[in-house]
Amino acid sequence: MLNIILCGAPGCGKGTQSKLIVDKYNLKHLSTGDILRNEINSGSDLGIVAESYISTGSFVPDEMIIDILEKNIKNLPTSSEGIILDGFPRNVIQAEALEEMLKLLNINTDLFINIDVDEDELIKRLILRGQTSGRSDDNLEIIKKRLLVYHEKTKPVSDFYKKLNKYTNINGMGTEDEIFKRISSVLNNIKE
Ligand code: ADP
Repeated sequence: MLNIILCGAPGCGKGTQSKLIVDKYNLKHLSTGDILRNEINSGSDLGIVAESYISTGSFVPDEMIIDILEKNIKNLPTSSEGIILDGFPRNVIQAEALEEMLKLLNINTDLFINIDVDEDELIKRLILRGQTSGRSDDNLEIIKKRLLVYHEKTKPVSDFYKKLNKYTNINGMGTEDEIFKRISSVLNNIKE
């Protein structure tokens, strides 16, 4: 099994890199953002509640997202060779809940990968994405709020995984391919 967490600020390329990693390493991709957006698009009660938080650039409540993640992890197909978590954990409470949950399921987190991108570049990418994504949170005002929330809540998750000796930082500036090569070389090392 290869179980990794992909983390970084909004717009850092987590989603793009996750897809490349999933294909190469046959992992199951769990993106809390994608799960929430599916709920929003289906018009479910959960989606309606989620949208009220997401559209303001806030996190959805921890209990809600932890519950969603738990259900998804338990329903994973046995054929995958591991898990890639994208967008979770987003704060220290979620990180603690995750590690507890995984312990009970006998799953080990191998690595926490932080994708590091300059703030100017993040804003540029998110505004560009907003032109086609149709996402209520890809506009300048909400992007700035998401970046603030990221610095306050998500950055400390790095320290949590540094203490567990599972932290790696990847330079997220450059082409998709260049960044994927950097991530692959780290993953190939731990697979050996
Ligand atoms: P981004 O592109 O900002 O990294 P995602 O697609 O991962 O975003 O998530 C979009 C939004 O969904 C977040 O801004 C947040 O409101 C909500 N969300 C996703 N994952 C979580 C989580 N683990 N905890 C709380 N809220 C979350």
